[in-house]
Amino acid sequence: MISRRSASDISFGEFALIERFFKQKSVADDYVDLGAGDDCALLSGRPGEQWAVSTDTLLEGVHFFSNVEPAALGHKSLAVNLSDLAACGATPRCFLLAIGLPQIDQTCLAGFSRGLLGLAEAHRCALAGGDTTRSTDGIVITITAMGTVPTGAALLRSGARVGDDIWVSGSLGDAALGLAFRRNQIELSATDASLMVDRLERPTPRVHLGVRLRGIASSAIDVSDGLVGDLRHVLTASGVGAVIDWTRVPRSPVLQQQPVNVQQRCALSGGDDYELLFTASSNRREEIAAAAEAIPINRIGTVTATADLAVLDEQGTPVDTESGAYEHFLR
Ligand code: ADP
Ligand code: MG
Repeated sequence: MISRRSASDISFGEFALIERFFKQKSVADDYVDLGAGDDCALLSGRPGEQWAVSTDTLLEGVHFFSNVEPAALGHKSLAVNLSDLAACGATPRCFLLAIGLPQIDQTCLAGFSRGLLGLAEAHRCALAGGDTTRSTDGIVITITAMGTVPTGAALLRSGARVGDDIWVSGSLGDAALGLAFRRNQIELSATDASLMVDRLERPTPRVHLGVRLRGIASSAIDVSDGLVGDLRHVLTASGVGAVIDWTRVPRSPVLQQQPVNVQQRCALSGGDDYELLFTASSNRREEIAAAAEAIPINRIGTVTATADLAVLDEQGTPVDTESGAYEHFLR
């Protein structure tokens, strides 16, 4: 562990650190002509393809707890970026990692690297370079992920059309429940807690689903800030409205044991789900079922012409998603 040394010491140690923790052994991507080691990485596109590029920063104390398991942090740092690629239907190719560390903790870096490079390998995504600095105020991780799509085929937020079905993958709200547990706001059994915290700290980016929805979905977004908020982005970009059937919003068995207000708070407005929310014409249902393969998907509503969003409960009564009336367990 190097702690509180001069700034020049970390740059002296930087190369050893990169060599040790941020060098991939097996992922060779033919889109990366030159990876880490020079002033720039060199990437080759393919004729008829576009690059899809996204960047996200995770700040200690804001986006993750200081005591998070390092491997989970490594996994999540890349997962949130791959989720953005998935939302565009892009195939991941490579990524850049800029990391600011207040100190060098080798055990922590080894875990971080394992989680990060493990997910990268699973998606054949090459670490093409980065930057390593000393930060003064907690760990800062910025990843820029790059993927490719056939030209014109990217899934965008702006493509939803009146009458389209609204779909979501997986289940919603578990990460928010895991966060509430981590903040000591609710009690869960040890088994349930570990399931929910895993959903929060090790999200599964829906990369393959995104790719398979190209040419089928009319719009897509990944649910990172909550279903209602993220659906609003799609509706605004597309100039449409929506009706959502609350009873169809997929919730895990663990979340379903919670009071309904907690379920609604978590599944409608909780963040960090990293599921795909997408729209498609109702005559594409069979293709969508085929594209989803083993991934559970649910049809939760319909795109409407009136520019507002209504979530209706089993009685057809609008669920209040604005006032915070159902947010009682949050600080
Ligand atoms: P420069 O000073 O020219 O920006 P750096 O010293 O920052 O170069 O980086 C040297 C090489 O190491 C570059 O190729 C860069 O991409 C790579 N690199 C730096 N930090 C990381 C990291 N955290 N992960 C992967 N590669 C890195
Ligand atoms: Mg640099």
